Amino acid sequence: MSDFYRTALDMKEELVSYRRRIYCNPEVGLELPETTAFVKETLESKGLEVEEIAPSALQVLIRGKGEGKTLLLRADMDALPIEDRSDLDFSSKRPGKMHGCGHDIHTVMAMGAALLLHERKDELQGNVKIMFQPGEEIFAGAKLMLESGLLEDPPVDAAVDMHVDPMSPVGTLDYPPGPFTTSADNFTITLRGQSAHGSAPNNAKDPISAARDLHLNLQSLRAREVAPGEYLVLSICSFNAGNSHNIFPDEAVLQGTMRTYNSKVRDYMLQRIPDVVEGIARLHEVEADFDIVMSTPSIENDPQLVEEISSYLESFDLKFKSNPGALISASDDFGYIASQIPSVLMSIGCKPEGVEKNFLHNSGVTFDEDVIPVGAATFAHIAWNWLANN
Ligand SMILES: [Zn+2]
Ligand SMILES: [Zn+2]
Repeated sequence: MSDFYRTALDMKEELVSYRRRIYCNPEVGLELPETTAFVKETLESKGLEVEEIAPSALQVLIRGKGEGKTLLLRADMDALPIEDRSDLDFSSKRPGKMHGCGHDIHTVMAMGAALLLHERKDELQGNVKIMFQPGEEIFAGAKLMLESGLLEDPPVDAAVDMHVDPMSPVGTLDYPPGPFTTSADNFTITLRGQSAHGSAPNNAKDPISAARDLHLNLQSLRAREVAPGEYLVLSICSFNAGNSHNIFPDEAVLQGTMRTYNSKVRDYMLQRIPDVVEGIARLHEVEADFDIVMSTPSIENDPQLVEEISSYLESFDLKFKSNPGALISASDDFGYIASQIPSVLMSIGCKPEGVEKNFLHNSGVTFDEDVIPVGAATFAHIAWNWLANN
């Protein structure tokens, strides 16, 4: 057993109590005053240096001996705007808010790693920076921290992140090389025409007809301009116009999302969608706006860093089961960091025994707390070895 795992097991009860406290007081979005204060005060009481580099955005720096590189470990702290139906005896005290994406677990795994590495900082051959971000679910927190100097002073050389997977048991750890999560681009298309009586379509500039053609042509774009084997989802999920039987409306609004693992496909589509919108608008003599309201790049795991991590984990106490072909069809704003420095996202199993359907973002999802010491020690083990080897 490596020291980190043994120590993490000794700390389990304490870390679980932190987790339950965060779990039952969930905060959503970019403002997480209570969670942030709790993490900051707890780590400071143990002698760590914690800096709030932006509102609800914490950075912990553990300086090792001498000069060396800096590795970033990432945690997100925000909850979801859903009702907690998990039926736990420490369930959410806040109506309509729940840690349904496991960010409470991420927070305490990173707190655990901070405590483990702080204890042995004299042996660290470099620095470990640990980030605790708000607003992951709205793809805003990582960007906020990047803009607040996250990767500077000392400059960060590589990053490692972990997301819980409540569908796989503890002991599973997936971190395939290359694309792992999709990018996400949520967009709104507004078509503005001219209203008129339903009996006189010749007087209208009909935004409904334009929106209909646009919907069809966006699907053609996917079908005819992107290779069939390429993963690309382009979904229009909201289509709103008009409120009467006999009035052509002024406006039609479409909302949709696009997901792909391939950044070249993403770039291509983000240039072609506005072309198509403009072309259809011209055809129907309406005005059009295409706005991206929320987005994040895909996460592409750095193959070299994946290989290094895999070699470090050979000397870890737990032998993880890993699927090198794993793919996550969701998105995470860690993509903003991964597109700037060599990074790896790992998906860590935490399915409680006997629980079957157990999905992230589901109001009944539950997590096996055994993952907490495992994740904390895995983070610490990787950081310690990476600094020793780089
Ligand atoms: Zn989520
Ligand atoms: Zn998440």
